[in-house]
Amino acid sequence: MRTLGIRTLIVGPGSDMIYLTGFHAHVMERLVLLIVHQDGKPAMVSPMFEVPTLGDYAEELVSLYPWNDGEDPAALASMQIGGDSGTIAVASTLHSVFLIRLQQRIDATWVEAGPLMRELRVRKDAAEIEALQQAATRTDEAWEEFVATASITGLTEAQALQQLLDLTAAHGVTDPHGLCASGPHSASPHHSAGDRLIQPGDSVVFDWGGTVDGYFSDVTRTVHVGEPSEEYVFCYNTVLAANEAAFKAVKPGVPLEQIDIAARELINDAGYGWAFSHRVGHGLGLDIHEEPYLVAGNREPVEAGMVFSDEPGIYIEGKFGIRIEDSVLATEDGARKLNNATRDLTVMS
Ligand code: ZN
Ligand code: ZN
Repeated sequence: MRTLGIRTLIVGPGSDMIYLTGFHAHVMERLVLLIVHQDGKPAMVSPMFEVPTLGDYAEELVSLYPWNDGEDPAALASMQIGGDSGTIAVASTLHSVFLIRLQQRIDATWVEAGPLMRELRVRKDAAEIEALQQAATRTDEAWEEFVATASITGLTEAQALQQLLDLTAAHGVTDPHGLCASGPHSASPHHSAGDRLIQPGDSVVFDWGGTVDGYFSDVTRTVHVGEPSEEYVFCYNTVLAANEAAFKAVKPGVPLEQIDIAARELINDAGYGWAFSHRVGHGLGLDIHEEPYLVAGNREPVEAGMVFSDEPGIYIEGKFGIRIEDSVLATEDGARKLNNATRDLTVMS
């Protein structure tokens, strides 16, 4: 904070608050606010009845300023933030209504806390990597079991997805969720599972994950129901090769956009560049999408400890879509895949 000239950091409920304190505060219409000054004990403004949910050690970590319904929490928070000038950094999750109420009371320079929090969160420590690895491994195990045992023809997308999510939960992953997109739906990268019946000839994209100790897994595998066409096999192998090319491009010091370019060049050369419509990846941690973003224009370097997805795809409207997504850890000398569920073209019944 000193380096960036930030007098005070304010954080609403969300992953930044969890990262800094371990508090899983509810996002709601009542103000919950963590206030961190450059020096001294941080303050926490919270509804009185939420205080017990902060945990036994809350008072050791922060000075608690509880408020009751009928009182003005913005006034209470403003007093703790302090009214003199300076720069106040605002974390990315704080309802705008609370920020506006604070800004009406406090004369200061308001900036995004993103650069400050990125510096803390973008490189994972050993405990975070272990949680991410566990989440990835258990999600992989659920996939292996799913492809070995499930038959998806005649199921709706929602039913097929539910089977996979149930298996994922059974492997110890918390709150699994995801998408299943079949046939022409698979050409839409963020289609959510619906009532369409899965049938022979379909490409079926499953993109799902959940958490272990709060840290996310995020995996995509694409299967084909019945024998695939030549074009499908070509596209599948292209996406697989792009997934590998992106992985091989990961090395400390390399600009993050270079990983996207590595996958994109391969798909371009295969003649399907027009069908790869999204960035190749995003960071993964307490949020399922967080820094760093592997996207054109991001010249920030890869750093050891970063964890991000590697998820190239080809989407052909009216026909099919294919995506293969793994989580990757950048290491001192290269990279390690956190996911190892089979990537071979799998035909399901
Ligand atoms: Zn995903
Ligand atoms: Zn993803």
